[in-house]
Amino acid sequence: MTDVTGTSNRGVAPRRKLPPAHRAAVARLQHDYAAIPPGSPVRLAKRTSNLFRFPGGDAAPGLDVSAFNRVLSVDPGSRTAVVGGMTTYEDLADATLAYDLMPLVVPQLKTITLGGAVTGLGIESTSLRSGLPHESVTEMEILTGDGRVVTATDDNEHAALYRGFPNSYGSLGYALALTIELEPVAPYVHLRHFHFGTPEACMDAVAQIAADGSYHGHRADFVDGTAFSLDEMYLTVGAFSDVAPWRSDYTRERIYYRSIRGPKEDFLTIRDYLWRWDTDWFWCAGALGVQNPVIRRVWPRRYRRSDTYRKLIALDRKYGFSATLNARRGLPSREYVAQDVDIPVGRGAEFLRWFVPHVGMSPVWLCPMRLRGTPLSKQPWPLYPLHPGDVYVNFGFWGTRSLPPGAGDGHYNRLIEEEVTALSGRKGLYSSSFYSEEEFWALHNGTEYATLKDDYDHQGRLAGLYEKCVRGK
Ligand SMILES: Cc1cc2nc3c(=O)[nH]c(=O)nc-3n(C[C@H](O)[C@H](O)[C@H](O)COP(=O)(O)OP(=O)(O)OC[C@H]3O[C@@H](n4cnc5c(N)ncnc54)[C@H](O)[C@@H]3O)c2cc1C
Repeated sequence: MTDVTGTSNRGVAPRRKLPPAHRAAVARLQHDYAAIPPGSPVRLAKRTSNLFRFPGGDAAPGLDVSAFNRVLSVDPGSRTAVVGGMTTYEDLADATLAYDLMPLVVPQLKTITLGGAVTGLGIESTSLRSGLPHESVTEMEILTGDGRVVTATDDNEHAALYRGFPNSYGSLGYALALTIELEPVAPYVHLRHFHFGTPEACMDAVAQIAADGSYHGHRADFVDGTAFSLDEMYLTVGAFSDVAPWRSDYTRERIYYRSIRGPKEDFLTIRDYLWRWDTDWFWCAGALGVQNPVIRRVWPRRYRRSDTYRKLIALDRKYGFSATLNARRGLPSREYVAQDVDIPVGRGAEFLRWFVPHVGMSPVWLCPMRLRGTPLSKQPWPLYPLHPGDVYVNFGFWGTRSLPPGAGDGHYNRLIEEEVTALSGRKGLYSSSFYSEEEFWALHNGTEYATLKDDYDHQGRLAGLYEKCVRGK
């Protein structure tokens, strides 16, 4: 039996779930992919990206994947959705909130896409309860590097691809449609901000919340935190709520991250909660002046979004405005340090006590997480191995640091890589990396990756993981 693409339908997504327009788009994409001359670079033509690596020069037009940027169906009965791989979480959340449901993990930035969060790993304040976004994917339709379209699940003949896809960054193939689990929501989130005077006390509280599912009687449906300094740290614990005595709105004059230091309690609608960090790109929009009250007033509200700021930073990186200005003023060069690292909770305080004197960026975002319901004996995600059952804290810091005399680009990022490995932690790959090839493959299961690459991209048409994430290809 053949499908619309003219190839065998073995391993192709079940047609009953995917509408004809989607199937036709898959056929077009396969055709476009086949038409790219061997040896030419392959990339996705997407309007947005949240990578903090800015690959240079190559003007390859990219594959048009705009047909995969929509939610295909939401089934409130089974609490699942079938979603195009390039659908932004903003669109996905809107489609599911209409049914009082949401994906189990919704990353903070509106234009992160489902496929991007699965292949590039995402995290959010539900991650202590619900793990990482890929753990609630039950099925993925993937255009593989060798040009096939396969359906990968945890228990079919493409199970190895299903497990190896997270943290592969599009180097094995592209996710075109994903089936995901959803969970019910309440209309509001009731936030409580808890202050800690030492990193040790803060990490102890994370461990306690992980064990109890609540803190001081407040249910921990959501948990994240913000460290302003070693003696001023907060954990924000959020509980779904059917009522809200008041509702804050941080898309106007007030700024969410500053509110954490203010009143200890807050209420947001579930939608405003999901995007609380997007309006000011956590705090990073401050570098663009958006948090200056005068500029904020004239900065149109619809452009107070992380994708606007990221485009401005990309332009700055491309044309070197701030580097030139810096040099003209005789100031030292600055290094971009934008990273998320996962550290076992028992060593989180040690990490912070190292980070402050050696890197010294503030604030730092904290997000506890734990693999979701994975049997303790099983390690199902080979390219980003975390210990099942263990609690980790994701530390996120994004900005620039001036380089000490004689130091070159990579100075701080390299220090961070070494410290994270020393603490048995892991570093995400969405930003710059400086690992040697040997070190990289030791950390990212090079043997398993080589097998997957051979099975799904035998000719190496897609750039490999090391080329993409370290060499920036
Ligand atoms: C300041 C900052 C803060 C961040 N904070 C968070 C955070 O708090 N939580 C979080 O979850 N993430 C965070 N990220 C990282 C972000 O989630 C990852 O960069 C993610 O991969 C971006 O997804 P995207 O959809 O924008 O993908 P893109 O940026 O477009 O692509 C990322 C990579 O994935 C590949 N890719 C994209 N779509 C697909 C697909 N459908 N199939 C296969 N491969 C694909 C691309 O080829 C590329 O290599 C942050 C990034 C920055 C810069």
